[in-house]
Amino acid sequence: MIDLKSLTYEELLEELLGRSLPKFRAGQIYEWTHRKLVEGFDEMTNLSKDLREQCKQIFTFTTLKMVDRQVSRFDGTEKYLFATEDGNMMESVLMRYHHGNSVCISSQIGCRMGCRFCASTLDGLTRNLTAAEMLDQIYRIQKMTGERVSNVVIMGTGEPMDNFDNVVRFIKLLSDERGLHISQRNITVSTCGLVPRMRQLADLKLQITLALSLHAATDEKRKTLMPIANRYTIAQLMEACGYYFEQTGRRLTFEYSLVKGVNDTKEDAELLSKLARQVMSHVNLIPVNPIKERDYEQPDTKFVEAFKKRLEKNHVNVTIRREMGRDIDGACGQLRKRHLDTER
Ligand code: SAH
Repeated sequence: MIDLKSLTYEELLEELLGRSLPKFRAGQIYEWTHRKLVEGFDEMTNLSKDLREQCKQIFTFTTLKMVDRQVSRFDGTEKYLFATEDGNMMESVLMRYHHGNSVCISSQIGCRMGCRFCASTLDGLTRNLTAAEMLDQIYRIQKMTGERVSNVVIMGTGEPMDNFDNVVRFIKLLSDERGLHISQRNITVSTCGLVPRMRQLADLKLQITLALSLHAATDEKRKTLMPIANRYTIAQLMEACGYYFEQTGRRLTFEYSLVKGVNDTKEDAELLSKLARQVMSHVNLIPVNPIKERDYEQPDTKFVEAFKKRLEKNHVNVTIRREMGRDIDGACGQLRKRHLDTER
């Protein structure tokens, strides 16, 4: 069986022509799937009953099932828990901003990167998500809310660069003019820093934003927070970021989760400034979201402000990420983790 929703239009066309079906059927099926966002072949009403049955013999049609939905009382942020066909769970978040709706999607079931402060990695990696499963997080949310999704960030559970081929396929389908046609400039991929994959991504010259989870300005400190730092140095990361900018012309984003007493000192801010000035970049400060499995804490607000001021003084572009959905297990992997824990 072929996973229909993961096919590009050209691939779908090839499958149909190979079975002596007419070309215009590819356009119809693609439109139902990626524009009208239907949940199965039975909704494709301009296909004959016979053709729909034939399609069911050839293709699987990925549709995620919504298991839970929580709406923040503070800011309208919505958190979704979806189940896959094989009974795995993933989470996605809808954030409403003045510039449009942004959806944060997961790229894997679990994660194997082991970042110390992150809830998504506590139970390890189960499997990669398919391109269809990534797309459907957005399709289901757009369908359920009836509101257009204009921005997508791959910052949910999983390491997108550890699922490279499917993520690239997903980006191409999402930005395809025959589908939702979300501009690549409105798509962000966040990585903990798999250097060879970052370079491979640069070579594709997509117009997406690459966000690097830096979280520390020295290798020594980074190693205490992120096991991946044992594999790649910050110097290697900076080189890869420079290469990404060269190839794509896209400014990088550096994510920096501020952890009280760990990476929030003046010296940290000075070292981070030096790094940020090495490449065209923008720093996004995120006061760490405490998870119950670890005792990391957020610095006091005035420390966060002082950290930001110091970067600004050094002419670094910096913003503090506005915290959304605090009351609904907003941070990476927390909702899924809670569901898994209650099941046990
Ligand atoms: N694996 C990718 C994308 C998923 S995580 C990556 O590492 O970038 C998205 C961002 O949220 C990363 O910057 C990650 O480090 C950060 N993050 C994870 N858990 C967090 C927490 N508890 N508090 C603050 N930021 C967190």
